[in-house]
Amino acid sequence: MSVEKTRPRHGGHGARGITVLLRAMRDAVASEASAQERLDHLTRVIAGHVVADVCSIYLRRDSDLELFSTEGLKRDAVHVTKLPVGEGLVGVVAQSQAPLVTDDAPSHDAFRYFPDIGEEKLLSFLGVPLIRSGKTLGVLVVQNVKKRTYTDEEVEAVQAVATLLAEITASGELLEGEESAAVEAMLHGAERLEGVSVAPGIAIGKAVFREAPAARHRVFSRDSHGEAARLERALDDLRQSVDQMIAGRGLGGESLEILEAYRLFAYDRGWKDRLRAAVFSGLTAEAAVEQVQSENRTRLARAQSAYLRERVQDLEDLSNRLMRRLSGEDIDAPRELPGDAVVIARTMGPAELLEYDRDRLRGVVLSEASTTSHVAIVARALEVPIVASVDDALDLADEGDAVVVDGETGVVHLRPTREIADSYRQQQGLRSERQAAFAREAGLPAVTQDGVEVEIHMNAGLAVDMRNLAVTGAAGVGLFRTELQFLIGRQLPRVSDQERFYRDILARAEGRPVVFRTADLGADKSAAYMKRRREANPAMGWRGLRMAVDRPGIVRPQLRALIAAAAGRDLYVMFPMVTLPSELEAARGFIDQEIAFAEAHGKDLPRKIAVGAMVETPAAAWRARALARHADFLSIGGNDLAQFYFAADRDSDLTQRRFDPIDEGFLTFLKHCVDEAAAGGAPVSYCGEQVADTVTAAALLAVGVRRFSIPATAVGPFRRMVRSVSLEAISAALEAAYGAGGGAGGPVRPAFRASLEASGAALN
Ligand code: PEP
Ligand code: MG
Repeated sequence: MSVEKTRPRHGGHGARGITVLLRAMRDAVASEASAQERLDHLTRVIAGHVVADVCSIYLRRDSDLELFSTEGLKRDAVHVTKLPVGEGLVGVVAQSQAPLVTDDAPSHDAFRYFPDIGEEKLLSFLGVPLIRSGKTLGVLVVQNVKKRTYTDEEVEAVQAVATLLAEITASGELLEGEESAAVEAMLHGAERLEGVSVAPGIAIGKAVFREAPAARHRVFSRDSHGEAARLERALDDLRQSVDQMIAGRGLGGESLEILEAYRLFAYDRGWKDRLRAAVFSGLTAEAAVEQVQSENRTRLARAQSAYLRERVQDLEDLSNRLMRRLSGEDIDAPRELPGDAVVIARTMGPAELLEYDRDRLRGVVLSEASTTSHVAIVARALEVPIVASVDDALDLADEGDAVVVDGETGVVHLRPTREIADSYRQQQGLRSERQAAFAREAGLPAVTQDGVEVEIHMNAGLAVDMRNLAVTGAAGVGLFRTELQFLIGRQLPRVSDQERFYRDILARAEGRPVVFRTADLGADKSAAYMKRRREANPAMGWRGLRMAVDRPGIVRPQLRALIAAAAGRDLYVMFPMVTLPSELEAARGFIDQEIAFAEAHGKDLPRKIAVGAMVETPAAAWRARALARHADFLSIGGNDLAQFYFAADRDSDLTQRRFDPIDEGFLTFLKHCVDEAAAGGAPVSYCGEQVADTVTAAALLAVGVRRFSIPATAVGPFRRMVRSVSLEAISAALEAAYGAGGGAGGPVRPAFRASLEASGAALN
């Protein structure tokens, strides 16, 4: 046992104590000694200041933690003792990435006895992980012989030291040669991250953060006054930019309150004082920002108030901006993308996606799942693959890292090995070959082997989508989602702008029909300029036609623009979220009013106006016959209809894949709707995204749907499937699959798929 006797308490804790400690650490790192001597000096300094009998630094090598330096344990254990991550107290700290404190270490569940290091008699243990970019680089441990409860202040001080140690280790200032290379490999090795695919496709490119991360920087400075002046200037700039941001947005209500709280932080005296103190302890301004932010994180995580805990994000954001300002960046200028960019961000709205230069943007990785639905629609239109819900993406990636976004399976590869990157390159090649093959089939009729004709239209929402009509050979646009124009702007689009846009879309359609769906606003699709009341269940709330009927201020001008744009042509208008026939009648009333308005102003009218209703609520589906009597055509919005039928949120990861649309109950329900629509005399189409899957599409043929509107990328595979099989074989396959287990609610898909394949159906 080589534990030295307990040292007298000196150095103290609290802000002054830490300042002294940081200064001593700076001197230790700056010395000319060898890497090992500097590390040992550092360990000694920390032990002295925290009044510990033992202080040790373990660094990670693959799945082990190696004792790199110790003050108090046996010297010859250094670089010999290795503990597996997850085992023993130190291993648990590394694995959980959280501090562990105990005053009776040997009785702790996770305690494991390692014979060679001489820690038998140490009762008190405090271990803190060294974390950098979300990865555990090692563990800093202080131990005492006696039973002793480390105070919150002491834990905080050791955490502050650990933050710095992680910084120093990662910066390459401390280690040399092979050891430094091991840390580098750990920080920058290949990673496979799982998320949820939001928009399909494969992207290979380089990581770009939505906001540029701070450049690499030194940790210690020799000129504290110079650093303090730099800090002062950067803080001034930051405050100015926050003021401008608030003034320039013309915000009110909740958004303004949030930004005001943000401004308060930027002007907070305490924040500035702590930054200055850290600089005068010998840190560079950048390291001071990181140091203070790490303290804030710990403090705010413990705060009682949820409001304060949520503010961590504001402070993170401010610190990040301050760091970028310190590196001389203009924090107000929008980011220009480099070529082959894969943007990594927490969340992203559709407007932002559209603002990026499409020639440079290859893919997107989001760490959160929220707000994915709008961005997904735009991403599919632009053919930008997106994987969302990738929790660690922001922490684990570095700007410029190679990234593969696999929008087919929802996987992201960071810094992929050459084999992985090559395999994806091959897949990309195959995809474009496949697309070329589908394009060659674009002129072939979509008729089944037994002569049943199928109409395939495509979905659209942007002008760029329209080029897909020619590429895919789609019969027209069966669903044009007009709300995107309302969601991406800062204000309600003017009637003249809307008219110009619709006219352009019709021109690009070159005579093929385009079904314009009036803006399906509300629920998750709400523009910043729209004042909305908070609803507990917005998907079932005031949205679509409900909102239009109550407040025609958006839909009437939109109808005016559509009528004007389609002058002399056929106009197809469709209303979203219809529940009752009476709502459709009200909508027809608006059209009549707008026709009267156009006539009164001597304007040319469309040749014909066909009015459609979307069947997206079970209420509408159940009464399709009645609805059909008031409509010229119906279109089943399977995304919403399935959401309400299964009572399963279409945007939630947890419910999204839980229910299969080829469930016998749902298909029976759809069949009822299709039959009732026919009885009511209106043609019916299906425009849910589920038809992008050929197996689901086949099942819909079996229940009588003959007209579809589907994502452009799905048109080729759908046509090939239709041509490869007879309707009779499809119907028989579905019956057999239900008989084989579907009746009991069991999975139908594998059996259905197998029978379809056996009948020669081309399914992908
Ligand atoms: C639907 O609900 O199926 C639909 C096509 O509309 P959206 O996806 O735009 O809600
Ligand atoms: Mg819908």
